[in-house]
Amino acid sequence: MDPVFVTALTCRECGRTYPLDALHVCDWCFGPLEAAYDYEAIAAALSPEEIAAGPRTIWRYRALLPVQDTRPVELGGGWTPLVRAERLAAELGLGELWLKDDTANPTGSFKDRVVSVALTKARQLGFKVAACASTGNLAGSIAAHAARAGMASVVIVPKDLERAKIAMAAVYGGTVVAVDGDYDDVNRLCAELVAEHPSWGFANVNLRAYYAEGSKTLAFEIAEQLGWRAPDHVVVPVGSGSQLNKVAKGFTELSKVGLLHADEGPAVRISGAQAAGCAPVATAFETGSDDIRPVRPSTIARSVAIGNPADGYYALQAVRRSGGAVGSVSDSEVLDAIGLLARTEGIFAETAGGVTIATLAKLAAAGVVGRDERVVAIVSGHGLKTVESLGTAAGPGVTVPPSLEAFEEAVGETGEVLLCR
Ligand SMILES: *Cc1c(COP(=O)(O)O)cnc(C)c1O
Ligand SMILES: [Zn+2]
Repeated sequence: MDPVFVTALTCRECGRTYPLDALHVCDWCFGPLEAAYDYEAIAAALSPEEIAAGPRTIWRYRALLPVQDTRPVELGGGWTPLVRAERLAAELGLGELWLKDDTANPTGSFKDRVVSVALTKARQLGFKVAACASTGNLAGSIAAHAARAGMASVVIVPKDLERAKIAMAAVYGGTVVAVDGDYDDVNRLCAELVAEHPSWGFANVNLRAYYAEGSKTLAFEIAEQLGWRAPDHVVVPVGSGSQLNKVAKGFTELSKVGLLHADEGPAVRISGAQAAGCAPVATAFETGSDDIRPVRPSTIARSVAIGNPADGYYALQAVRRSGGAVGSVSDSEVLDAIGLLARTEGIFAETAGGVTIATLAKLAAAGVVGRDERVVAIVSGHGLKTVESLGTAAGPGVTVPPSLEAFEEAVGETGEVLLCR
């Protein structure tokens, strides 16, 4: 039997502790609950060598996850490539740039990290149905992991999502419920459903304290892949703000348990990326406010279109504390950035990835992200999920009849299109 290092859930606001059950808010002050660990014991037990000998998945960091199951519910998510992006760096006027390529996860987004943790806990607590409120990627990941675990699933999404995201959720055989409303409506509905369905584990509601912890593995992997060094600056997309918070927590934990090189400089700067059509955290950052004022989303970046972000306040604090920034970009900047990333690095990102790269470009141009920094941008989802947003820009350059003559007339020696038909 492996040692268990997670000790309790604690309230972020008042510090009260709770047992490791399906609880997510403090009875006393309504603050969010978060997993707490025995870091001294982890520091004594964990070494880079032991981690290196673990699975090539998020579960190599089991000691720092809130459910320490040796046979987790998983599809092999995590341990995605961290790639040096020299061509993109040159385009953006940056020095050392890396991309954390989470398009490579089993269902094509970083959500496989959080879902694997949530459903492992759901199974342990005896939930019969895996459920969630989703902007799209979570739905597909829940449905897939539930199928893997032999659980039923019910995923609830806004009705006008991208086709691929609905299809990915439906194909795994769970129930997909489309709601005539936006994500914030879906989320409210799920908050009510939790009370009505005690045998349903909602990944991002009653299991949120566990689910959210899965995002720490982004920080763990980035540090390990850099040789147990922290980067200087990480750029993270912001929907609910959970991912950003947990990336920050992940680096802090590595330093607490002594896994980072001793010669590490100041802490990692964390910057957030939002779409201008749904930028409540960026607006609060820019105006110097502590209030996240809810907005009605209007952007092609559906996976980050959360007008009333649950963890927005904490994300804002994490950014400010670290010396980062939160930027926002227009939909056309998002599309340009998807193209730029694909052309320079061979990575096809969904719209949320476009948000991150476009924001990185903007922060680089403003000097917020420096040339002398080691920068990591998180590319959180695959472009095949959002092809319709590319429109006709991603079609053939030319269409020709099947004849040599026509082909030669249309395409030049370096592969360029000579003539459009
Ligand atoms: C959910 C999602 C995000 C946002 O994550 P939060 O934890 O909600 O901030 C970013 N990118 C992709 C691809 C997502 O699916
Ligand atoms: Zn409390």
